[in-house]
Amino acid sequence: MESRAARIRGVVGAHGVKMHVFLPSGRTVWTVVGERGEYWAHPEMDYCSCPGHYFGKLSGREDGCYHVMAIASAVEQGMVDEVRFDDEEYAAFVARIMDDMGGG
Ligand SMILES: [Zn+2]
Repeated sequence: MESRAARIRGVVGAHGVKMHVFLPSGRTVWTVVGERGEYWAHPEMDYCSCPGHYFGKLSGREDGCYHVMAIASAVEQGMVDEVRFDDEEYAAFVARIMDDMGGG
């Protein structure tokens, strides 16, 4: 089984950590492309939309999933992919990402 550190390295190395910046408001949405799809993560709130994060929290694990950790790692290494959008695209962006996740 692949270790958590190896998974994090894999995600960061593949530029899977993306910061979507909406302008001019400057609001940001983070997504992480993991092994099973793209997830919406919120590093400040220690939130990730993946099932691993949710169940990890339920079972009392403190550190959540590797996606949130990959964001911290990518920031540290300057490996964040920054993508800029117009504020007007925000609603459509959120709708798309919710759709991707809900559909499985
Ligand atoms: Zn996650």
